[in-house]
This record gives sequence, structure tokens and C-alpha cells, in this order.
Amino acid sequence: MFVSKVMAAGLVNDSGAQATVAHLAVAVFAPRAQERLPEIENIAGNEVPRRRLDGHQLRCEESMKSAPAHNSLARRLWKELLELVYPPHCAVCDQLSQQVICPSCREQFEFIVPPYCPVCGQTAPPGLPEGQPCGKCRSSTWALDGARAVGPHRSTLREAVLVLKFRGRRQLLDPIAELLAQRLFEEARMPHPLPFDRLDAIVPVVLHPARRRWRGFDQAVLICRRLEQLTGIRCHETALVRVRNTKPQIGLTPAQRRSNMARAFQARHDALLRGGRFLLVDDVYTTGATLEAAAHALKKAGADKVYALTVTHAVPLWDVTPPLLGDEQDAEFL
Ligand SMILES: [Zn+2]
Ligand SMILES: [Zn+2]
Repeated sequence: MFVSKVMAAGLVNDSGAQATVAHLAVAVFAPRAQERLPEIENIAGNEVPRRRLDGHQLRCEESMKSAPAHNSLARRLWKELLELVYPPHCAVCDQLSQQVICPSCREQFEFIVPPYCPVCGQTAPPGLPEGQPCGKCRSSTWALDGARAVGPHRSTLREAVLVLKFRGRRQLLDPIAELLAQRLFEEARMPHPLPFDRLDAIVPVVLHPARRRWRGFDQAVLICRRLEQLTGIRCHETALVRVRNTKPQIGLTPAQRRSNMARAFQARHDALLRGGRFLLVDDVYTTGATLEAAAHALKKAGADKVYALTVTHAVPLWDVTPPLLGDEQDAEFL
């Protein structure tokens, strides 16, 4: 638990760098305070509180890194004490739960299952012959060689992605990485499988440095690090650098999105990329413009094949129910 680790870090630090009371208070209240951020922003009308809290959270994480790994008894006692004061909640729905995602939220997850487009992985529209690419994939050529997603961008899966991204609930990183790992391993048993068993590395679709500083973390990088641990596939987190801080894509047409994303990425370490097969990892596939731009940069640097795996895939228009219309595109660049 984030809070307990931070507090324990202050108690067991042999170097004498004990956390201050103010520091601990921030550690205890930061998660709750972050949940109130939209309110704070609405009232204040600016982004300062979010930046300030993110800064505190970063410093708290630095404390965690510098803490010695011993004294597990103290950690356990603190964890139990803190759980009395602040019982664990589901990170998605806020109901009391010992699990990061409660059973009720997990039961509501929707998954993309065959039949789906063998290229972009979007649920196949009614009537599309099995194994045929969807209309979008038939009419365009892509740098991206194929994409898959765990589920459509709705249900509690969508909520999980959004609360990780916008409320900074990093406890969701592990369950989200587990869902991606599971989907990655399942690919071999799917019709028209992409060769996820022959990847050289996984590559996060990184944020622009300015946006990463503003948010305080880069969710794609953090997810990829966990995915590396779960799959044993190397995470090449510096393969891409985002060189343009593109404007938010909400409200843009697919063509405008592609134009907005043009030359947004550059690939580093060309020698490592040459001839390789890579899997881009991101949270949401909206129109594919971001993943396409990232794939283009990797191929320009010599990559042979580039695939993508995301947590969710935008709900196709023919499958959008009225309450989702409009917010299904949320968030690709916020
Ligand atoms: Zn829940
Ligand atoms: Zn398709």
C-alpha cells in the first residue's frame, strides 16, 4: 500500500533522513486529496494544486526508493495500523475492498473476443466475414502491423484506465499490467494470432516530458515495467521519445488526429531497433493515430515489425450506445 510504504520508509531510514510530520501528512492525505483535484481545479480555476500534489507524490516515492528493505515487521505493523485508520478501498468504485479492484468491478469488465478485425483488433461489425479486415483497415495502409486490446473502452475497464490516468491511482498499475500480460499470452490461442511470442521488446508510448512532469508519472512506462516482470519480455523504455507536445485530440476528426500526431515521436538507439519486432503498449487505442505515429518512428529507425497492445479500444460507432457517445474519445492526450 502506497501510504504504508511511505510511512515505513520514514521510520526505518538508518541514515537519519526521517520523514517530517508534514511529509507524512502529505503521504497519508495525498491519495484522498488527489481524488478531490477536479473540485480544486474547478474552484481555483487553475492547475496549480495538481502540480503541487504531484510534486509531493514524487518526493514521497523518492523516500520509498531510499528506504532500506529490512525491518519488515515495522512495515507490517504500520500497514495494519493504517488499514485500521484507512481501510482499503476498490480503486475503481471506492467501495470497501481488500482487493485493488473489487470482485464486483471485475465482474463488470467487458472483453474483446473473436470475431474481431485481425488487423486493428476492433470488434467486428455484424456481417463482416470471419478473418476479414474492417473497413478502416481495408482502406488504409499502416505502419502498425496489428493491434490488440483487452476490452472495449467502456465498462469498469474504462473506469480503471481513467482513474489511473487522471486520479493517479497507481495501485491499478499491477492489475492493469496483469490484464495486458494475460491478453498477450492468450494471443497464441486466438484466430489470426499476431506473433506476440516472438517479440524483441515492449515499447511504451511515452508522454512528452512536459506532460509527464505535469501529471507526475507516465502510465505507459510504469505499465511496461510491470509487463516486463510478468512476461520476461524486455521493456525498451527509451526507444521512443515524444518530441512534440501535441494538443489534446478531443473533438478532432481521424484525419486531424493523424495530422496532429505527425512527427510526434522520434526513435532512439537505432542499432537496437534495426530488424526487430516490437510491441507498443499504451492504455487506450482511440483512432490509432498515436500508435501509428509511434510505429512510423520505430520503422524509420529500422524496426521490422511493430504491433500494439492496449488496455481498451475505442468502441466502434456502430456499437456505441447513447450514454457513451461523445466521451468514448476521452483522454487520449489529456
Ligand atoms: Zn469496485
Ligand atoms: Zn481493423
